[in-house]
Amino acid sequence: MSHDAVLQALRAAVGPAQVLTDGDLSAWELDWRKRYRGRALAVVRPGNTHEVAAVVKACAAHGVPLVPQGGNTGLVGGGVPDDSGRQVVLSLSRLNRVRTIDRDNLTMTAEAGVVLQAAQQAADAEGLLLPLSLAAEGSCTLGGNLATNAGGTQVLRYGNARELCLGLEVVTAAGEVWDGLSGLRKDNTGYDLRDLFIGSEGTLGIITAATLKLYPQPAARMTALATCDTMPAAVRLLGLAQARLASGLTGFEVMGEFALSLVAKHFPQLPRPLPAAPWTVLLELSDSESEAHARTQFESLLEAALEAGLITDAAVAESVAQSKALWHLRESIPLAQAEEGLNIKHDISLPVSSIPAFVEATDAGLQARFPGARLVNFGHLGDGNLHYNVQAPEGDAAAPFLQQHEAAVNALVYDAVDRFGGSFSAEHGVGALKVDDLRRRKPAVALELMRAIKRALDPQGLLNPGRVVGTS
Ligand code: FAD
Repeated sequence: MSHDAVLQALRAAVGPAQVLTDGDLSAWELDWRKRYRGRALAVVRPGNTHEVAAVVKACAAHGVPLVPQGGNTGLVGGGVPDDSGRQVVLSLSRLNRVRTIDRDNLTMTAEAGVVLQAAQQAADAEGLLLPLSLAAEGSCTLGGNLATNAGGTQVLRYGNARELCLGLEVVTAAGEVWDGLSGLRKDNTGYDLRDLFIGSEGTLGIITAATLKLYPQPAARMTALATCDTMPAAVRLLGLAQARLASGLTGFEVMGEFALSLVAKHFPQLPRPLPAAPWTVLLELSDSESEAHARTQFESLLEAALEAGLITDAAVAESVAQSKALWHLRESIPLAQAEEGLNIKHDISLPVSSIPAFVEATDAGLQARFPGARLVNFGHLGDGNLHYNVQAPEGDAAAPFLQQHEAAVNALVYDAVDRFGGSFSAEHGVGALKVDDLRRRKPAVALELMRAIKRALDPQGLLNPGRVVGTS
């Protein structure tokens, strides 16, 4: 079938103005990390679920592959087309309505293209909290968050995107609309289709809307920084904070000194309230009583931690603005790293109890094999999730370092992750970047089950082909 026939069918489905084929399409063809640049047959921007269904049907009829895309902030190259010029980018960005907020049921139903921050603001306007939060929230979309089962900074208390999702509306590979927009917290009526689509990275269906859990806004939120000399001390601080603050502990982030030094280098205007130390921890407390109660709880925790020798220094934010500044410090690490140059990213998870031994063994292994390599280690320690990234030695050009060593660095890190019982992808997904790792590291039985699901839901193999489970 000729490209002209497909383009004609797509124009009939969404109107000619929403089928982009000319001009600069790099906003859709180039991924956020600038590691994947593809070439699309067209970028198609439907305005509602029925138009999405019509687009999928048109592509299915012509055997044309589709790559769903939300905010294009994904970090594993899963949301951009390949360079064949045959794939259609299906942008969900015009599906951007919050459909309903049910205050009594504590739920929001919103379309896939709603930007996460806009969804948070809509909940906030009703005095409610949508607790999914990540540094890309000003650009990423709910559909992308669910398709990647995004994590972020409050997983410790509220869970990943999966735990926040009660229902989905999905356009299947055949172009049928499945309305599963339930706000039920209990529904044991057969296989959980919702959980199949969450985390499937656009390979099983197109998410067009979702019903998400909301929570009452806490009376007060407070942030503190503390410094630790060792990773075991940071892990023990986490245990102490969990014991004392229970579900009030909504965030527990760790930042290695080199990661923070990159922030200081590239964003010198950002204040750094504590002196340099091997590890800096950011804690967030949400309190249902009052700010005064939150402060007392935090101060007593930090005093106990100081007495136990777990921390060397601490500072509690005095205002919302100061809390934001502390988070800004943490959230600036990926940007500072990008400024420093290309790097090898690892988004890994481990049992929290294994993290100190993992870090010690893997740091040593990397230094022995790649002397001078710089380790940018930070992440959501409370969830056992580290962004354990490797930057070329000071003064070395990043691109040749990556070209020469990326495969060996990955093998070293992921072998260690396997040894310590972890996962090679905690929250970013598999996308295009980690297809081989999935093939190599997942048990054969799990892989075959995944492929069987893919074949059943997308028999023509047109939804985000080659991603996640690969092509065979
Ligand atoms: P995209 O990048 O557009 O797409 C991501 C994947 O989902 C692709 O495979 C795409 O095909 C698929 N997809 C998108 N929309 C749909 C849909 N409607 N239906 C079906 N499939 C779809 N991630 C975390 O988990 N935690 C973090 O803390 C975090 N921090 C980040 C910080 C920065 C600075 C950046 C740039 C990214 C970060 N990410 C993080 C990664 C990224 O933001 C998340 O994965 C996000 O959820 C992706 O949303 P998106 O709308 O940009 O999706």
